[in-house]
Amino acid sequence: MAIDGKKIIHAVMEGSRIRESKGIIPLFGVYLSVFSVHYYNLLSFDFERRLGPDRKEEAASLLVEAAQECGYATFQGIRNSFEWAELVAPMIETREDQIDGFLAVAVAFGWGQLTMTELVPGEKMVIEADETYEATGFLERFGTAQTGKCYMLRGVAGAFMDLLYGQDYPDGCFTFQAEEPYCRAKGDGHCAFVARKKPSD
Ligand SMILES: [Zn+2]
Repeated sequence: MAIDGKKIIHAVMEGSRIRESKGIIPLFGVYLSVFSVHYYNLLSFDFERRLGPDRKEEAASLLVEAAQECGYATFQGIRNSFEWAELVAPMIETREDQIDGFLAVAVAFGWGQLTMTELVPGEKMVIEADETYEATGFLERFGTAQTGKCYMLRGVAGAFMDLLYGQDYPDGCFTFQAEEPYCRAKGDGHCAFVARKKPSD
């Protein structure tokens, strides 16, 4: 059975209506909350700006690494949750199907329209995205960028591959790293994230 993304998106949307007293959404075994993308973008792009032009690459790496570590822990929680076992696991036939499950959850979280366009098991994955909030936010605030700006999704792409093909949790994080060769913030038609296995040291 192929992964029915719509079913997963619907379940997340329904489940996210439940809020604890502090606004936390207890869903898929992890704690979620509604968060302003404008605020997230403000923190992230101001962090980059304040580190200055000489440390641009360092700032980008730190933001991508933070997202990768967060994505790694979050989606490990998600795939071990009761909701995943009930809803997604019955649709999974191959290890690779997990990525479609992850992507459907990510779409429901509001991270963009995400599609996996290429997968070389254990080696490489390409995700294409429309309407990522980081690219939109950057364009609105600063205009056209020189480099890709979707640091969060770049980290998450690496995390998905870490979870599938890295060592068992928690030792597999940063087995892969992703680049963003195309980004709407640079004027490209869509964003693309290419995760590859990191050369071993
Ligand atoms: Zn982008």
